[in-house]
Amino acid sequence: MSTSDLTPSLNFIQEIVEQDNCSGKWGGRVHTRFPPEPNGYLHIGHAKSICLNFGLAEQYGGRCNLRFDDTNPIKEEDEYVASIIEDVRWLGFDWGDRSLYASDYFEKMYDYADQLIKTGRAYVCDLTAEQTRQYRGTLTRPGQDSPYRDRSVEENLDLFARMRKGEFPDGSRTLRAKIDMAHPNLNMRDPVMYRILHAAHHRTAEAWCIYPMYDCAHGLEDSIEGITHSICTLEFENHRPLYDWFLDALDIHHPQQIEFARLELTYTVMSKRKLLELVRGGHVRGWDDPRMPTLCGLRRRGYTPESIRAFCRDIGVAKFNSTIDLVRLENAARQHLNKTAPRVMAVLRPLRVVIENWPEEDGSEPGAQATGPGRVEWLDAINNPEDASAGTRKVPFSRVLYIERDDFREEPPKKFFRLAPGREVRLRYAYFVTCTGVEKDDTGQVVTLHCTYDPATRGGDAPDGRKVKGTLHWVSAAHAIDAEVRLYDRLFTDPDPDNPKHTKDFTDFLNPESLEILTGCKLEPSLAAAKAGDRYQFERLGYFCVDPDSTGGRLVFNRTVSLRDSWAKLAKK
Ligand code: ATP
Ligand code: MG
Repeated sequence: MSTSDLTPSLNFIQEIVEQDNCSGKWGGRVHTRFPPEPNGYLHIGHAKSICLNFGLAEQYGGRCNLRFDDTNPIKEEDEYVASIIEDVRWLGFDWGDRSLYASDYFEKMYDYADQLIKTGRAYVCDLTAEQTRQYRGTLTRPGQDSPYRDRSVEENLDLFARMRKGEFPDGSRTLRAKIDMAHPNLNMRDPVMYRILHAAHHRTAEAWCIYPMYDCAHGLEDSIEGITHSICTLEFENHRPLYDWFLDALDIHHPQQIEFARLELTYTVMSKRKLLELVRGGHVRGWDDPRMPTLCGLRRRGYTPESIRAFCRDIGVAKFNSTIDLVRLENAARQHLNKTAPRVMAVLRPLRVVIENWPEEDGSEPGAQATGPGRVEWLDAINNPEDASAGTRKVPFSRVLYIERDDFREEPPKKFFRLAPGREVRLRYAYFVTCTGVEKDDTGQVVTLHCTYDPATRGGDAPDGRKVKGTLHWVSAAHAIDAEVRLYDRLFTDPDPDNPKHTKDFTDFLNPESLEILTGCKLEPSLAAAKAGDRYQFERLGYFCVDPDSTGGRLVFNRTVSLRDSWAKLAKK
């Protein structure tokens, strides 16, 4: 990533960092971290956090750790660790050898807990989960002290050690911070620090049967790594006093927690729990289904890392929550692909066209019944009008072609400038053609168009200055490659499927038309060498990416995004 990816005006976190650098608070050091829990695949919301944390480190000559916050053995898996590493790398960030794991600090965290017991700031409590909840009170009612709150230090040390040894069943005891059961902030009412959980951990296996809770563990992890700015989402704002309390009570390195607004996108769910539900429920084909907001899904769909970084930069970083229109993400893809994707011609819903006056191979007039390819001309086509260095390629033109079924109307409505009986249009890079006849099958469906071409218009212009209103893409039938093309639409029909005000489940808003599979699509032959992950603009149709489902003989493409936002147009009507 280059520094040109960074915005010139400062966001509020950059302002904090610059103030800290000015005052010398951290000795000029900037050390951030991206701390995912490996309990699912990363999504576009995580990308915002990744770009923010790695971006700050890059901008201020600091460092950013990739830290797996793996303190809950029940939901965490190595599969997720591997996917997270792949996704952060793909986004374009580097963390050197700092792939870190909270589970590597379990021993140290245990020592810290012991220390809090010794200074009378933590105690072992025998209340059940339900009782703990009841004793906690509410926003309007203070909590009640646990009957175990005044255990002696010796007893607490002994019980905590035996919790670790596995002497007690799950849920029978907890270690709690001794703060204030009447505190106005409920998070400060003697929160649980450790719970008993006899479960195998993806890295420490059976070594532990007590696990630290997020609020206790997170600050310790940050402190151990020497983090300076601990950036998290707004929900943690009223956990900050607790974050501070643990670090102050232990008198250890104390990073500053800073909260920012999480990314919310229309027509999308973002919580890993819900994404997992979509996968497990078979509503999508997997975590990397191109309709998913996961980074692997977006990658498969054809999004570039550059476009995702540009999107994250454009939406900015704020202190209040807001929902971003999905169109902005799509526009970021369009913008980058417009500059980088080679143009090719592909026909998704083919309609056969025969050029009646196209010469035979030897240049002679065609016979009345001629249907073979006849002469083949290789015409020059521009690879990318946005990038002169991308050069040109040759595309074959012959007697039998395919055009898009939508590009022909037997009875054209007003403003339909494409092909119709008696009408002349331009075939891109080739010739002007005029429709002279229509062939139908028994059901009345048009199967073949008969046309003539004007040899003087080669390259696409008429020497007599005559104009045509439509330019169509096409593919030579004799040279076409067959492909499957998957068209995607929004996964949900409701802009806010997750809204708690809905009486229906978010899965009830799944869009039944989010995937359309077209087979028998026709591609120009230059695509024969395309491989999984390659991205193209299919002229007039949108941006497309080769899917890994492609095999030697059979190409599969995903539509990343159409050329324009067709939803905006629909909405206007
Ligand atoms: P989810 O709610 O989707 O399950 P999470 O917050 O539980 O996500 P973590 O693995 O804990 O997932 O997240 C790692 C980091 O990514 C955290 O610092 C979190 O604040 C950040 N993050 C998660 N979701 C978003 C989002 N929608 N926008 C911005 N940052 C996010
Ligand atoms: Mg989380």
